[in-house]
Amino acid sequence: MTKLLGQFVRAESSSFDKAAVDRFGRIVAAEWKKRGATVTLLRDRERGDHVRVELRSRARRGTSQILVLGHLDTVYDTGTITQIPFRVSRGRAWGPGTFDMKAGLVIALYAVDALASLGCLPERRIVFLWTSDEEIGSGSSRAAIEREAKRSDAVLVLEPAAGLDGRVKTGRKGVGEIEMIAAGRAAHAGLNPEDGVNAIEEIALQISRISRWNQPRRGISVNAGVVEGGTRTNVIADRARALVDVRAARVQDMRALERKFRSLRPILPGAQLEIHGGFNRPPMEPNMSAALYAKARALAKEMGVTLGEAFVGGGSDGNFTAAIGVPTLDGLGAVGENAHSPRENIVIRSLPERAALLAGLIKTL
Ligand SMILES: [Zn+2]
Repeated sequence: MTKLLGQFVRAESSSFDKAAVDRFGRIVAAEWKKRGATVTLLRDRERGDHVRVELRSRARRGTSQILVLGHLDTVYDTGTITQIPFRVSRGRAWGPGTFDMKAGLVIALYAVDALASLGCLPERRIVFLWTSDEEIGSGSSRAAIEREAKRSDAVLVLEPAAGLDGRVKTGRKGVGEIEMIAAGRAAHAGLNPEDGVNAIEEIALQISRISRWNQPRRGISVNAGVVEGGTRTNVIADRARALVDVRAARVQDMRALERKFRSLRPILPGAQLEIHGGFNRPPMEPNMSAALYAKARALAKEMGVTLGEAFVGGGSDGNFTAAIGVPTLDGLGAVGENAHSPRENIVIRSLPERAALLAGLIKTL
């Protein structure tokens, strides 16, 4: 498993480098073809092609399926592998994209190998969808993800586990981005400031207002992360904007937050305010995972493993499938640390354990 992971990690696949993601997607596709699976490339002009894998099953057409989700892309620019090479030391495998989530792709292959070698591949259809743009919001893959999820009884997501104790993710906050643009009126800061309307001041007042919407204990967060505006110190700024990260743990809170943003009005007389954007991924509420988690926990117990659960602030493609009402369990991938950083790594001995857990789920669901 470690050797295959090394091959996968060395085939870099930055979300923004279509040629690289396509190359890596072909490598993954070849592994599945070796195993007799039916592989279809879902082509995309701008982003990498998505890879859809279907296990040959005895299932009749139209019967339901299980969907296993993962992504091919990483957050690392092409060339990172020369600075941070793949390496194995101290029981860990290190390198860009090991944890998020090339180890998850390896786990899926070995789970199927295990089931095949025991002659217990399930009768129902199993579809694996490996997408190319999860790390940049899944704009290109969302429709395919939702289409496959609608045909499925359950969705298993191979994103990294939470913590070194390998908890699965049974809830995720919804995530969005709001752009606030303020328009004022330019004037000379010394000669006729009274004729001006300062757009920067308008944006500052708005940020102060929306900051009060934070409710950490309820899982609501509002963070102005980027602010731009103005041209020179002696000019009253006629334009300013802020980009705001918004998160909510509940669908109801997501809707309320979007309504509150839409109802913002200018504070300074003469200023104008535009609001764009909204939630990109809706919250994954724990009730969509509860039954699957109970099954996974029971299977893990048979293996002598205690499987915990976590609610996390970051979103994944599991948010989409849970939001359309399909039971979803996330964080079934490798155990490791430091995703999206130069110290990203996985715990090697977690690989067979997670493959066994996934095999058990595929077999018994
Ligand atoms: Zn990921």
